[in-house]
Amino acid sequence: MSESFEPRSHALAPDELAGRVIAITGASAGIGRAVALAAARHQAQVILIGRSAERLEAVHAQIAAAGAAEPSIAVLDLERAVARDYDELADALVQRYGRLDGLLHNAGILGTLTPIEHYDVPTWCRVLHVNVTAAFALTQVLIPALKKSADASVVFTSSALGRQGRAYWGAYAVSKFAVEGLAQVLAQELENVSHVRVNVINPGRTRTAMRRQAYPAENLESLPTPESLTGPYLALLGPASRGVTGRSFDAQAPSAAAASGVSASSSSGGRARTAPRASVRSRASGPKRVRSTRLTRAPWRSMS
Ligand code: NDP
Repeated sequence: MSESFEPRSHALAPDELAGRVIAITGASAGIGRAVALAAARHQAQVILIGRSAERLEAVHAQIAAAGAAEPSIAVLDLERAVARDYDELADALVQRYGRLDGLLHNAGILGTLTPIEHYDVPTWCRVLHVNVTAAFALTQVLIPALKKSADASVVFTSSALGRQGRAYWGAYAVSKFAVEGLAQVLAQELENVSHVRVNVINPGRTRTAMRRQAYPAENLESLPTPESLTGPYLALLGPASRGVTGRSFDAQAPSAAAASGVSASSSSGGRARTAPRASVRSRASGPKRVRSTRLTRAPWRSMS
């Protein structure tokens, strides 16, 4: 089953995620938001993790309006969070749910498209921190909660650029290679000693703000919406992929995904293939150091 499993082929049942507690980073926008809404629709209890309470509240309101189980909100800025913030989130999660059945590491930033020779070092550190180190730290504090589940699934988000390097993609590409490696290491460590499986998904090129940032001249309308790609995510987060671990998947058919992602040049106007866009900047262009910033007094909030 493990070898033949293909999340794109799985037909989701309406109650696919019933009884499962699933946390999603970057749930405020783009792919993370779409997966959160779909998971709630398929009856998961969803924990929305992100840096903007306001944006998360908007997603929360949409889930509530659809009549799904009430989600929780955890405000966590992956660029600035310190150990205490992670611990508080894990403690609150266990207190409220007792366990965690699914964890999707989806949040990410692009950084700049710049030759390595000229890559801004603080930007490099920020991208590696948000895309890799924060995912490692969050996984680490949540492993005890994942181990309390009878069938837990951790899913990391990669890119075609995490599997084949490409000039000018700098820290972003390197971070995605690191994510692939982190998932492989963790999968081996948890296999046979726990019920926690670990896999990777590459969404492929998708109609989101990050894609727009990478390819400003591209016609976004030509790309798949995040909503159209949620099926494989739910298959990996849910019981359908039980027994599958240490694998890397594509949310889109290989022909589309191979030339894709915020990962590769677009067929309709993307310019990154031929030239670096020095002006493309991460939205997280604040302080030059990873700062120790207090999150909130109560990073964990139920909206009820
Ligand atoms: P978006 O830019 O639309 O969304 C990124 C999400 O990450 C947002 O929710 C954002 O929060 C969150 N985020 C960014 N920085 C932080 C931070 N410091 N702390 C907490 N949350 C943060 O991107 P996509 O939906 O396109 O990307 C989702 C994932 O898919 C990423 O890992 C990306 O690398 C990957 N991917 C995307 C592709 C594409 O074509 N779109 C292709 C290949 C991979 P906020 O709303 O506050 O900004």
